[in-house]
Amino acid sequence: MELNEDDKILFYGDHCWVPYFRSHFDDFVEYGSSDTRVLDELDHQMLKNLKSRFDEGSHFKLMASHLLSVDNAGHQFDVRSPHIERMIGIVDHIIEQIVEMMDDKTTLVIFGDHGLTEDGNHGGESRLEMASAFFAFQKTPFPMYDSYLKNKDLYKEMDDSVRLGDVTAITSLLLNTQYPFSNMGKMHPLLAPSGDIRVVHEKFLDNMRQMNAYLKEYCRRTQNLWCPEETGLLQKKIDEFEGFDPSRATDRQITE
Ligand SMILES: [Zn+2]
Repeated sequence: MELNEDDKILFYGDHCWVPYFRSHFDDFVEYGSSDTRVLDELDHQMLKNLKSRFDEGSHFKLMASHLLSVDNAGHQFDVRSPHIERMIGIVDHIIEQIVEMMDDKTTLVIFGDHGLTEDGNHGGESRLEMASAFFAFQKTPFPMYDSYLKNKDLYKEMDDSVRLGDVTAITSLLLNTQYPFSNMGKMHPLLAPSGDIRVVHEKFLDNMRQMNAYLKEYCRRTQNLWCPEETGLLQKKIDEFEGFDPSRATDRQITE
């Protein structure tokens, strides 16, 4: 992701991320999560760090936190355990505190990277393990909010199909930066930094062009059997989009 020199990226969370992204973090605090018996301790420490960061009034472009306690409790107990309930309460409290500390220009995005089975584990392909939540909040309305509400029926398919991989595209959209070259996720118009549907249309097209460029490069190198069909389909979609002139269409037609 291309950010300006003075745009700080902060990270607080599981130590497994640090070896991969250390060079991108301006500041980080890592926690060891191998001991799943340590339940709420890690998240309490994290809140302390987040608070001190906000107290200093330090400006950052992106702050990422990884809350571990609900997952840890899941591995140790089953989903009906009072421990899970208690950990969810702790996470709720942390979110409350973050919302209180946030200024009007910040967007809070919360998502889970997996769900849990009845016995509190994950890693398989059942719906309980795969399904999770995606939530975004800011203190001022999202620029696209009115337009989104007016045409909510047209967004149903997109709303129902936000995937973990889409978080990359959505984050780029929120930060108003380029989509990373190897991104395979799709943005969501509601989180666009502009309320002008024509600008959002362009952002969507950028997203498709970026995925197309990556897919073409990927296929050039791998020559996978599915390549001709998939690249053809995406190219056709892009041609359709490019053939459409948003300046001569109504907002609803563009949304469609
Ligand atoms: Zn886990």
